[in-house]
Amino acid sequence: MFWGDRAAASLRLPDGLAAAETHAHTLASDGMVTPEELVAAAAAVGLSVLAVTDHDTTGGVDRALEAGERYGVEVVRGEEVTTALPASTHLVGLFLSAPVRMGMSLEDTVDAIHDQGGLAVLPHPFMPTWFASITERRARRLAERRRIDAIELRHTAPMSARARERLDRFYADSGERVGAALGAGDSHFGIHDLGRMVTLFPGRGAADLRTAIVERTTSPWRGIVPRPPSLRLRLAQQRRALLWLPLQRRTGRVGRGAGPAQGDSPTLRSAGRVAAQTADAPTSSAPTPMASKSGTTRLTTP
Ligand SMILES: [Zn+2]
Ligand SMILES: [Zn+2]
Repeated sequence: MFWGDRAAASLRLPDGLAAAETHAHTLASDGMVTPEELVAAAAAVGLSVLAVTDHDTTGGVDRALEAGERYGVEVVRGEEVTTALPASTHLVGLFLSAPVRMGMSLEDTVDAIHDQGGLAVLPHPFMPTWFASITERRARRLAERRRIDAIELRHTAPMSARARERLDRFYADSGERVGAALGAGDSHFGIHDLGRMVTLFPGRGAADLRTAIVERTTSPWRGIVPRPPSLRLRLAQQRRALLWLPLQRRTGRVGRGAGPAQGDSPTLRSAGRVAAQTADAPTSSAPTPMASKSGTTRLTTP
């Protein structure tokens, strides 16, 4: 029997908690699966929530939402937004209603996500810059200026022990300024890489995930070890990421989403945001439910 004939391994979750993948790609950008295949994989693995976060487009989300209804997976409309050159750092927006424009500053991108009621996530932080990953210095600056809703504290990109220590220290130091701790797989191959690193949250559906992010009750969790994609598939994905997707960007087929709400000047806006954020920031005595109790940085293997 070929491996492909067997049912995929599925997550064995602690009682009362559900699992989400908050970072996954489809053929709408440089993923190698259709939205339907991604959702089917999420169902097979045992994820109850799946965020579709293609690069600079939400083009695959509607099909994923439809498939989600059939498979019993709640799909979250997301996007992995490429910010301005030269760093082109990635930022993930979750719970979006419309695409976010690429090529803006990190601050404007966070604003554009928040303006439509979305949550802003720092993906694969503290990786080498070619990974379009935010540096520690830039993350600190951004966290001073804007509310970040979550960070991928554990992800599947290769990371040195030292970088991981720095990331843990940064997260501990930043407290509520960088929001919830997520585990994310940055899936590009559906069943071949979904479920390796997931986010656990109390409840079941997308609304529960959103509440858990806002209340910082999520935890990264090491999941299953799927059969990896073939070399041929991996090379095809590289070509898609390095040749096809940049062409889509250059020709404007992706990346044309909305900027921050218009009306006021950028300077006034920024000043207003910091003031507004300070005003509704929770006081330091406010409890952080479960975050310390459950140890958001702890990883558990099934
Ligand atoms: Zn990325
Ligand atoms: Zn990604």
